[in-house]
Amino acid sequence: MRQGLISNYVNSVLYSDGYLWLGTDKGLCRFNTIDKTITTYSSPMTISNVSYNSDACFQFHNGMFAWGTSDGIIILDPKTLNMQEPSGRIYIQDILLSGQSIRQYPDLLHKVPLDSISNITLNYQQKNVTIHILPLGNDSRAARFSWKMQGFDDDWSDLTDQRDINYTNLNPGTYQLSVRLYNHKLISERTLTIHITPPFWATWLFKIAYILFAGWLAYFLLRFYMNRLNQRYTEDKLRFFTNIAHDLRTALTLVKAPIDELNQTNSLSGHDREYLQLAAKQTERLTSVAKQLLDFQKVDTGKEQFEPVMADIVVLIGCRVSMFETMAAAKHITIAYYPDTETCLTAIDTNMMERVIDNLLSNAIKYSPEQSAVEVHFRSDEDKWRLKVVDRGIGISREAQRELFHEFYRSQNALSAQISGSGIGLFMARMLVELHNGKISVESEEGKGSTFEIIVPRCKNEEYKDTGKQISAPQDDLSNDCPTEDMRILVVEDNNDLRNFMIRPLAKHFSVETAADGVEAWEYIQQQIPDLIVSDIMMPRMDGLELCRLVKSTFETSHIPIILLTALSEKTDELRGLGLGADDYMTKPFDMKTLTQRIVSIIRNRRILGGRFIASGSMTEVEDSAGKSVNTLNDAFVKRAMEVVVQYLDDTEFSKDDFAREMGVSTSLLFKKMKALAGMSVVDFIRGVRMEHAMKLIRENRYSIGEIACMCGFSTIGYFSTTFKKHFGKSPSDFTG
Ligand code: ADP
Repeated sequence: MRQGLISNYVNSVLYSDGYLWLGTDKGLCRFNTIDKTITTYSSPMTISNVSYNSDACFQFHNGMFAWGTSDGIIILDPKTLNMQEPSGRIYIQDILLSGQSIRQYPDLLHKVPLDSISNITLNYQQKNVTIHILPLGNDSRAARFSWKMQGFDDDWSDLTDQRDINYTNLNPGTYQLSVRLYNHKLISERTLTIHITPPFWATWLFKIAYILFAGWLAYFLLRFYMNRLNQRYTEDKLRFFTNIAHDLRTALTLVKAPIDELNQTNSLSGHDREYLQLAAKQTERLTSVAKQLLDFQKVDTGKEQFEPVMADIVVLIGCRVSMFETMAAAKHITIAYYPDTETCLTAIDTNMMERVIDNLLSNAIKYSPEQSAVEVHFRSDEDKWRLKVVDRGIGISREAQRELFHEFYRSQNALSAQISGSGIGLFMARMLVELHNGKISVESEEGKGSTFEIIVPRCKNEEYKDTGKQISAPQDDLSNDCPTEDMRILVVEDNNDLRNFMIRPLAKHFSVETAADGVEAWEYIQQQIPDLIVSDIMMPRMDGLELCRLVKSTFETSHIPIILLTALSEKTDELRGLGLGADDYMTKPFDMKTLTQRIVSIIRNRRILGGRFIASGSMTEVEDSAGKSVNTLNDAFVKRAMEVVVQYLDDTEFSKDDFAREMGVSTSLLFKKMKALAGMSVVDFIRGVRMEHAMKLIRENRYSIGEIACMCGFSTIGYFSTTFKKHFGKSPSDFTG
């Protein structure tokens, strides 16, 4: 049947002239043995529509056939059997896409009649296709169809008179549907190409994009993960370094103290002192490395707060330059500052900017040979300012310039020149400059020198608010338990820039006066008795050392603490050795924060000291154990003060004026000295001494509370008890038997 037989049940066969005549249960067919084609006979003929019986056939001598059929015998002449050639074609009546006629989608037809269509393009949702076909021709009743969808079917379908060709779930792709029309034999064939487009996500382009995206995502995630790991690793490393830096710093302060102590002994030989100074210098250097590492960790982890204030950057740079003059002079390097304007106000974090400038200056000096020159240029315009530090030193190679601003990087020629360093400074400088929205860059040629430049936008303080950087009111780590506003500080410095520069940060905590040299300062000190003096050493007319000697050896001023500003660290040790009695030394370059903290710590120490020496009954004891230099004038004064109070212990009328008279000073000087040396008022001092004495008497257990109150200058037991309780936190009876 697949090849055109009416039925697969062939009951009888006769042969004639190259044809096999086949009698089937549904009619007669003729099979051409040469070209293997089959002819069926159309239904109106008598020979069709009957069932041919099994083996009931016969051929006469004249060639006629006789067949036994269900309707009787049929006799026919195969040669003359009248055959009307069947003709016809396949007509496409409709195409249904998921049950909907294609006529509803005019776009698909491209304005041609449906029947003449030879290919259609469908989308991936139109995957259920039914094609409705009709046979056109002279004898459509015998019409049979067979079809094959290339790309879907393996074989042709059986002949059928069914007129719907149905395909469901066609995947995207190109198919060719071939339909054959049979009428006794194959008479027509037509093809229809069906193209089903894939959804966008099944297109190649999309797949490639998808793979690329997935790849990129995987790469990105991996990188992110690696970065995280790396970051954690770096953090761990940094924490490790920081811990070590902390330990180092602690150990170094402990090493430094005995060295200082030894340095003060007068019995040292020149050799001993030299060794000690070497040790001191190295501890100083290590301390600064440890400090740098700690600073770096603070900036790197964002722990350091960015606190911009309006400041004059020209003055600030000028100051830093003058702070480095002596360091440069030690290498016979001249350092010159060329600003294009006298003043330039902008919002900066002065502490951070100082560190940036210091790093550039110290590098320029460090990496320059002796007898060379360092130039510092400053230029400002409306919206930015720039600083250039030019040196004629060892220079930096091209490759190294690229790495320079990375952490721990040190260029090869710095290493081979055996100049020590940590490679943190420039990295930190870059971070600090970037915090100011600025840029840092370098131009350099090996052996010729380097030029470092920073360009920073000029900002008003408020402008940082917009960029989301936090601003908090600048505050130093000065604890509140130490009120400082009423402290009067005298700054003695001959360099105008430096002097003016120091006023601003100090004025935040103290009331500040200035003097340009020792002579001017000494006049002021005698009249005003300031609470603390900060003095440079190198000054015209009278230098800082002379001033210090004067202050400390004059009874009226001996109590005033002095901080001396020195140029080089080695000198500090020599100065200490001189025993001038300065309370502290600061090495230039220093930062204002440290100076402020030193001042506060001197004040705080005096106060703690005051409390302790009343308790112990001797100034000398306490000062010695605190490791401070002893000023005999001060010691004598305190000793005398205690003696006077003890002498008038039982005098209820003993007043401040009596006290001053006994001490041989004015009431105001007594007040000032007391405040400076004991950190307390005169009244508190008297009360303190009386209370300590009362405590001693109570412990002796020989007198009644009433007697003791009387012996210590209290007129009533009640007043004594209240005062005692306030002082010691417990009432006197708690200490008696
Ligand atoms: P350090 O100076 O402590 O090594 P820095 O971060 O300040 O660290 O500098 C990093 C490196 O950059 C230095 O080790 C040095 O190799 C190079 N460098 C910095 N400044 C200069 C300069 N002015 N001339 C030559 N080399 C410099």
